[in-house]
Amino acid sequence: MATPEDARRANRSLLLRTLHRNGPVSRADLAKVTGLTRATVSAVVRDLMDDEVVEELGLSTAGGVGKPATLVDVAADGRHVLCLDLSEPARFVGAIVNLAGKVVVRRTYDRKDRTGRSAVTLVRRIGRELVADAERPLLGIGVASPGIVDADGVVVTAAHLGWTGVPLGAELAAEFGLPVAVVNDANAAALAELTFGAEPARNLICVRVDEGVGAGLVLDGRLFAGSTYATGEIGHVVVVPDGDVCACGKRGCLETEVSAPLLAGRLQADAGDGTAVLQRAGEHLGTALATVLSALDVADVVLSGSGAVATDTFRAAAAGAIAARAMPVLGDRLVVRAATFGFDDVLVGAAARVLDLELGIR
Ligand SMILES: [Zn+2]
Repeated sequence: MATPEDARRANRSLLLRTLHRNGPVSRADLAKVTGLTRATVSAVVRDLMDDEVVEELGLSTAGGVGKPATLVDVAADGRHVLCLDLSEPARFVGAIVNLAGKVVVRRTYDRKDRTGRSAVTLVRRIGRELVADAERPLLGIGVASPGIVDADGVVVTAAHLGWTGVPLGAELAAEFGLPVAVVNDANAAALAELTFGAEPARNLICVRVDEGVGAGLVLDGRLFAGSTYATGEIGHVVVVPDGDVCACGKRGCLETEVSAPLLAGRLQADAGDGTAVLQRAGEHLGTALATVLSALDVADVVLSGSGAVATDTFRAAAAGAIAARAMPVLGDRLVVRAATFGFDDVLVGAAARVLDLELGIR
């Protein structure tokens, strides 16, 4: 049952997302766009201003009768968020992100072959260096990790980092004395679209291709967590029954056909222009996605990742494979697009998660 606290969280979330999309706007226009009463809008805006995440700007200069209205918007630099992206094969990325989803500072750190504790040590060092560089009060720390992450910020398993049951959230919170959100990388990419994306995203799937393949799901305007925080773990769905042996022991998993290092290698070895390699990989991804999209009636697909994944050829092949396997009712609406924030989407999504937590949104 919805409690008054649930309603408060939902209203804060709704207003903040509306401001990210439409701001700056007047309180009256916020009421119009969201369907909330003017009194509710005023109360929630005051609440968000107390948290220094929303600010009043000048008066509206738009014409019209009556006195000009005060405009409000996200206080982009009221607070900053320290973010880490641990999803790339060879490096960690650390950043300071503002509340409008803009990366203010970015640093990359060669991971070399660090795994286990050594990788955690590097994460903490990046945190210390960025805290020292922060020019605004920090709202919190957002970490996007590959693998399965639970609601308490424990990385349950991240094979490529050699992590099992690593309480990363608690460890960073203890060291830095800041709220910490740890989120799966694909979920972070999905949250970036949900929170800061240009289009209102009620339902979408964000497929992240890096060292592995994962997906983040937004359903009915919320990130979907699933039963065991393993939503979107599509990398080990078999797409080629007699294919290559996968790290998991099976043959022909999606990850044996589509992953960033593997595709980079195949493109390098390709005698042609790489088109066939990209088409084959895109088709395998589309094949794996067709059933998921059909079952959920989701037609908005965002591809996140660099290299092969960011090419038009790969996107078109994935779209073609989905459309060929799904009902026209889905295929006709299907959009397969690049991430709104390009290569920063995972970082920006980690910031979105911190914003959610601090606003009390689950
Ligand atoms: Zn596998």
